Amino acid sequence: SQARIPLQKSNDEISDLVGRFNKMLDRLQEYTNQQKEFVEDVSHELRTPVAVLEGHLKMLQRWGKDDPQVLDESITASVSEVDRMKKLIQEMLDLTRAEQIETNYTHETTEANETIHQAYNDFVMLHPDFKINLDDTMPPHTMVQIYRNHLMQVLVILMDNAVKYSSDRKEMNLSVSTEENMLTIAVQDFGVGIAQSDIKRIFDRFYRVDKARSRESGGNGLGLPIAKKIVEMYKGSITAESALGSGTIFRVNLPLVATKKHLLK
Ligand code: ADP
Repeated sequence: SQARIPLQKSNDEISDLVGRFNKMLDRLQEYTNQQKEFVEDVSHELRTPVAVLEGHLKMLQRWGKDDPQVLDESITASVSEVDRMKKLIQEMLDLTRAEQIETNYTHETTEANETIHQAYNDFVMLHPDFKINLDDTMPPHTMVQIYRNHLMQVLVILMDNAVKYSSDRKEMNLSVSTEENMLTIAVQDFGVGIAQSDIKRIFDRFYRVDKARSRESGGNGLGLPIAKKIVEMYKGSITAESALGSGTIFRVNLPLVATKKHLLK
């Protein structure tokens, strides 16, 4: 019938098909390797909290019945370790979900000004002692190509990091600018900063510059990878610029929605 591939194929066509088939296999192999790496990373990350939990439970088993102080301390420590694991699981889910942002989300648009103000207000409520300067020169009704909750998630990750990695100068600048078809949101802090040798890796999953400090502040090294993945799903980008000891600027670039004015041009 019409749909069948004719038997007489030229060598060119066959080698083209073989080439395409092999490319598909390569992609499949790459995908499988990525999945394997992810499972390895996750198992590795879960090992620490499980070991800590095990330690506390053994303490309880041995001395918990007779020593009220051990009982109290070990239970408190165990509960906080479980909270940490819950946060890790939630962040791993967020990362996987960010990788699968559906095409119906990528058509969503958001009023940038309103969302940034909301993030600002939420932050002020949560961190009354942290000074945050909002540069308010953005024209109203600037629409960006991203689902609102995803933009919020990205802003929260960056603003939380500014607090987690702050120094004595508890201050942050939040500013917005537009160039050509992109909106740039800059989050600048005056905290500990990041060394040049680390800056390439901060967007890798589970990467933390200072494991101890991160663990103390509940960091799993997944915030920036989640933010990057989300932004890239909307054809945007995220960059970091930093100097050790003086602070960091993260810039989120997102496509602007073409306004009527753009369309008329
Ligand atoms: P975490 O949950 O550990 O904060 P992130 O993926 O958000 O994970 O960040 C990765 C690492 O990058 C952090 O552990 C920290 O070392 C570094 N980092 C992120 N944001 C900042 C910042 N604003 N200032 C200094 N270092 C930062």
